[in-house]
Amino acid sequence: MKTVSIYSGPEAGDGQKYEALLKEHGYKLTPRRRAIIRLLGQGTCATPERIWRRLKPGFGRLGLPTVYRNLEEFRKAGVAARVAGPEERFYYGLCRARRPDQHHHHIVCEKCRRVSEVSGCRLEGLAASVKKETGFQVTEHRLELVGLCRKCRTRTGKSKPNTRSSREGK
Ligand SMILES: [Zn+2]
Ligand SMILES: [Zn+2]
Ligand SMILES: [Zn+2]
Repeated sequence: MKTVSIYSGPEAGDGQKYEALLKEHGYKLTPRRRAIIRLLGQGTCATPERIWRRLKPGFGRLGLPTVYRNLEEFRKAGVAARVAGPEERFYYGLCRARRPDQHHHHIVCEKCRRVSEVSGCRLEGLAASVKKETGFQVTEHRLELVGLCRKCRTRTGKSKPNTRSSREGK
């Protein structure tokens, strides 16, 4: 297991970026939220349970529901991305988009749980044809992209993409 190092992930200026995003949504950057950002900044995403277990030693009476709530606040503020893992569980990772408030998507590596930004959205055309076909105005959509990152692809060579990894997120 990796150790938690201070700001190993997000670059120096990112702290301010995330703080500003939280502020915009009425949240303060408390020590706990800061610790979660630091944890997520290590580059991979994790389940709320895992984040909770890593933080608990430093935050006495921290409950799992609180971590859930904080992560959802992060998601709403654009600080974190919620991605669906291969086992139908939700993972949270840090959003590293330059403009997190602009609509975009994320892809998660099924092996190492690294989250990458997918800029723009290719679904606008789909929304238009859905409207034509059904009369529905699409107001929201979710795109779950799971794959193998470049590193894991070269590491695993030709092995099956569905190799399960239970290392992270349990
Ligand atoms: Zn993002
Ligand atoms: Zn990977
Ligand atoms: Zn989209």
